[in-house]
Amino acid sequence: MSLTVLMNAGPWLSVPPPGYGGIENVVATLVPELRRLGVRVVLASVGSSTLPVDERVSVFADGQFASLQRPYNQVCGVAQAHLAGVVRELHSRDDIDLVHDHVEAVGLATLAAMGPAGPPTLHTLHWDLAKHPALYGSLDGGDRVRVNGVSASQLARAPLALREHSVGHVHLSTPLAVDADRRPRPEKGEHLLILGRINPGKGQDVGARLAHRVGFPLVLAGPVGPYHRPADLAAAGDEARQNPDVRFFLDEVAPHVDGDLVRWVGTVAGQERDDLLASARASLFPLRWEEPGGTAVVESLALGTPVVATSRGCLPELIEHGRTGLLTAEEEELGDLVLAGDLLDPDECRRVAAQRFTPAVMAHRYVELYERVRDLSRAP
Ligand code: UDP
Repeated sequence: MSLTVLMNAGPWLSVPPPGYGGIENVVATLVPELRRLGVRVVLASVGSSTLPVDERVSVFADGQFASLQRPYNQVCGVAQAHLAGVVRELHSRDDIDLVHDHVEAVGLATLAAMGPAGPPTLHTLHWDLAKHPALYGSLDGGDRVRVNGVSASQLARAPLALREHSVGHVHLSTPLAVDADRRPRPEKGEHLLILGRINPGKGQDVGARLAHRVGFPLVLAGPVGPYHRPADLAAAGDEARQNPDVRFFLDEVAPHVDGDLVRWVGTVAGQERDDLLASARASLFPLRWEEPGGTAVVESLALGTPVVATSRGCLPELIEHGRTGLLTAEEEELGDLVLAGDLLDPDECRRVAAQRFTPAVMAHRYVELYERVRDLSRAP
């Protein structure tokens, strides 16, 4: 396949990410597989990214994740201007066939604004868009700018203007799914795990109350706003409360965190993250938002940990109720499901992940979409 793709992973974190990182994890998973299929990848990211690619461009030396704490328009403005320059330059020399963008406020905004002069573009939607129609006010550029979802449910909820530009959806995947059969199976521990950003949509407060009710230990892993470690949050003092996720954590979750039954361990990464996930009796997703893609759901299956969740967003697409997890529409039923979850077979979770959620499956699907986007942009 002779195709060169400019992959925009944005200015927030390096690729692969140091720990937490939704979009950056997706890019880090997808790119090696695309290159195996013969796609040339130019990565637009931050200077500290170490992912092997064919060519790289960066605007900031390091990730600007910490500026999520402040209004981030300035970071976006600088990144947009830089990306526009790079795209114009590469496109004018015919050096790229297509842009695969992941960052709406930076990439999509830039590419849509370029109008018909810009290259064909596939933008992957990463958010629950029903709540954010304003982000996608206009998709000028006609057939040049196309979008894909990360689940069917995400697309179904998206504003009409986006659905009209959609070329389908691609479920997220994880490298952990690849060698599911060869990976050692750690002893299952007692704990439940919620892996993800601490945020009202992810429902850590529900999980913490549930843990006290059923008497199972619960580990909360993930950043609170820009704070990756409990000590960083403690040191930040009152200023930290400007961030809504910090306020949620301090007001709704922290009162249930006793350091014994319920613990917040901050961001976990690498082997520590995998061990925590693989040894959990279940992964809990007490969601209050319509989870658009759920990388952590797929990772949990790949490591042989069944999922107990509210059946929101993409969860019913990813989890087969009674086989790889237990789903309910009722938050109050989650406790009973946790108790019943011990009956599910960890090996079955791994087998399903190895069939459905490998990076190769994801990359093949993206190559199909790239070809479709190019064809559509050429149509008269
Ligand atoms: N993650 C991590 N360490 C943490 C919390 C999360 O490595 O402490 C990773 C997690 O494994 C997943 C990603 O961050 O790969 C989060 O992606 P997901 O789609 O689950 O959530 P979102 O994009 O909504 O934050």
